[in-house]
Amino acid sequence: MQTHDLIIIGGGVSGLVLASRAAAGGLSTLVLEREERLGGCLRSWHGGGDFWLELGAHTAYNSYKSLLEVLQAQGRLGDLAPRAGMGYHFLEGGRVQSPLARLNFLELFAHLPLALGRKQAGASLAEYYGALFGKGNYARMLSPAFAAVLSQPADAFPAAWLFRRKARLKAAPRKYTWPGGLQGVAEALAEGAPFRVRRGAEVTGLARDRAGYLVRIGEESLAAARLALATPPDEAARLLSGLDGETTGMLAGIPMADIESLAVVLPAARARLKPLAGLIGVDEPFYSMVSRDPVSHPTLRGFTFHFRPGRLDRAGKLACAARVLGAEEGDFLHVAEAANRLPALDTRHPPLAEALDRRLAGGRLALAGNYFNGLSIGDCADRAAREAARLIST
Ligand SMILES: Cc1cc2nc3c(=O)[nH]c(=O)nc-3n(C[C@H](O)[C@H](O)[C@H](O)COP(=O)(O)OP(=O)(O)OC[C@H]3O[C@@H](n4cnc5c(N)ncnc54)[C@H](O)[C@@H]3O)c2cc1C
Repeated sequence: MQTHDLIIIGGGVSGLVLASRAAAGGLSTLVLEREERLGGCLRSWHGGGDFWLELGAHTAYNSYKSLLEVLQAQGRLGDLAPRAGMGYHFLEGGRVQSPLARLNFLELFAHLPLALGRKQAGASLAEYYGALFGKGNYARMLSPAFAAVLSQPADAFPAAWLFRRKARLKAAPRKYTWPGGLQGVAEALAEGAPFRVRRGAEVTGLARDRAGYLVRIGEESLAAARLALATPPDEAARLLSGLDGETTGMLAGIPMADIESLAVVLPAARARLKPLAGLIGVDEPFYSMVSRDPVSHPTLRGFTFHFRPGRLDRAGKLACAARVLGAEEGDFLHVAEAANRLPALDTRHPPLAEALDRRLAGGRLALAGNYFNGLSIGDCADRAAREAARLIST
């Protein structure tokens, strides 16, 4: 049996950046992805002629250096599609409001000077930003905004894992997508790359052998000297259960948040909302509504609603979308749906991530994903780059 230097389970941004970096470092690398498409949470919907929209991640930034360096090495930076600068607004009681309209400046000025210099480490978003902006401002503006950014209730999320000062790659647009949507970034990472990808290859089990690891896809077994799991943490826990009980136990403690995403496409003239990046739901059954407007289209508009789980059935979601857009359900030319999932992280997770790193140190098993330093594509790429460097050196 051929032994790969490295097998990576998962063809999302984490697995693909890890593969690019490991292969560039000389490891013969195979990525196994259970779906026929690559990208995981980068999930672009096509189905309306030249129109597309995002059912998952929608915006990437030029601070995502670990990702951009790979695209740069492939000569693909010029393919990035800039997103127009448009704002998010709040929706409460059926009224669209600007973020500033929800900010009480008196309260802000009463708190900000006292809280400057406060450390993020160990604090939740509610604790850190509540001290900085005041509890009223936090509840009115920041709490729903953070829930919209993270697509889940976010008050307990570790503050240090959301915003970090990061160097930007000036050669890339500040905010961007890819022609045809962000999923194209995943495809681009794999195109002409010095590693192999197998799609439709669901890993069903893992075992150890003398050379390293055996990876099972149904009846088939593949051998690898090194193994990386770039799946959601609950799937990593499931796969590692027969191999490493302690790591499994640590991963199994990370809860997941479900997000029910539904997108509608309609003739541009039929939506009453002015062009915008999206809406933050305050008293709505959705965390956020993300619009395709920043990548404009001459005749169509598209809107993706990320609904809180278990609140509405499909008919309820369509009625909600029509109400918010000021349209009729009969105006919808296309409807698309996706079940999204993200780790539900809180202030216990940074110490857990450190404990996982201590456990992995010196070994040939790697873990990558959105549960090590934040949820964003850039956070995933940073983690993947670090794990690739570690595996190359073992
Ligand atoms: C609705 C939504 C909006 C978001 N918006 C943004 C945004 O605008 N900007 C931003 O920076 N981030 C955003 N994010 C976060 C970001 O997209 C994700 O955190 C990131 O893409 C996760 O990448 P990943 O590779 O770690 O995991 P995933 O994308 O979950 O990929 C894991 C892959 O592993 C595969 N897999 C799982 N199990 C197996 C198995 N047994 N065998 C083989 N393959 C397997 C899966 O099919 C999947 O392709 C958003 C996320 C969501 C859900």
